[in-house]
Amino acid sequence: MPSDIDIYIRSPKAYDWARQAIEAMEAHKVWPTAVNFELWVHYVAAKDSRVTAAIDTVLQSGAPFTDQVGEAIAEQHLPHAKLSGEILDAGKSLTEELDSVSRAIESARETTESYGQQLATASESLQGEDAEAVRAMVENLSAATRKVREENAALESQLAETNDELGRLREHLEQVRRDAMTDALSNLANRKAFDEALEQACADPNGKVTLAVVDIDHFKIFNDTWGHQTGDQVIRYVASVVGRIAETGHRFAARYGGEEFAVIFRGEASEVALQALEGAREEISSRILKRRSTNEDLGAITISSGIAERRAAESPSALLERADTALYASKRGGRNRTTVAGAEEAPKAA
Ligand code: GH3
Ligand code: MG
Ligand code: MG
Repeated sequence: MPSDIDIYIRSPKAYDWARQAIEAMEAHKVWPTAVNFELWVHYVAAKDSRVTAAIDTVLQSGAPFTDQVGEAIAEQHLPHAKLSGEILDAGKSLTEELDSVSRAIESARETTESYGQQLATASESLQGEDAEAVRAMVENLSAATRKVREENAALESQLAETNDELGRLREHLEQVRRDAMTDALSNLANRKAFDEALEQACADPNGKVTLAVVDIDHFKIFNDTWGHQTGDQVIRYVASVVGRIAETGHRFAARYGGEEFAVIFRGEASEVALQALEGAREEISSRILKRRSTNEDLGAITISSGIAERRAAESPSALLERADTALYASKRGGRNRTTVAGAEEAPKAA
């Protein structure tokens, strides 16, 4: 199965399929996420009957083709779908484009060189020649000039085409990169993006950085009581509250693990982070969750957080460890609370 996918994604028809896939997605109101794009390329290329059948079933049912639907089909039928494959393809197209530009440049260079030689020969042979010979020489020169002009025009249009193609590849790669850095359930940055952001925030040994980690309390019980899907809705809800913290200042929010989140505060001290996290904690604990379909009361959920302000030249992993220790102090202290590292003995209680 993986070898089939590899063969056809690398087919020369890949660009046609890519265009058709985008048109088909637009026609069926499907967002062109990286996962959907890959699925729909399979669909229009009709190379994988299971993908075709799965997409047809959704289309025939009249249900909207949401990102979740696409992800479910991809997970079931494209287990070997690889981002690296897309990046390899993009790299290959880029190499092909650059090869054809170098060929065009080489050919233009050769033409210019032979034009120069013709000019030299012409000027040598012009001396002492009769009118007929001069006319023949001029004709040769105009033919050579035309050729140079044509080659240059071809080169120009080749460069314009390459530029367009590079623009498309850049956009596609940016989309792939964005998707690779985003958590599909919560739409927050994922663990990989968080690791990079924390690394970046700590690049300056003297830069002020505060880190907060957040964990939903007794979430296993919630899942066991109300089901994993309702649990997922709660993760989305908590993510939206945590995400709002990062809407101001130089902050960065991520879904760091299953029901764990993190916020990086650049240039801000732990007091500011404490205030923000306490706001989120109070907001979450004061809401009663209800299941929309049945109006069932799911009770309230709570979060616990740990905050650490970076010490001079402290490494990202050491900072994370201290924030985690503060989080566990919040858990030990009874949950639904926020603890600042260094003040574990007296956690900020609810
Ligand atoms: P604690 O207060 O000590 O954090 O208790 P807890 O039950 O939340 O314990 P812990 O953080 O270790 O458990 C995490 C649970 O979160 C386990 C799993 O059932 C649930 N979980 C993790 N990821 C997901 C997810 O993506 N969706 C759902 N619905 N549940 C998840
Ligand atoms: Mg946890
Ligand atoms: Mg938990």
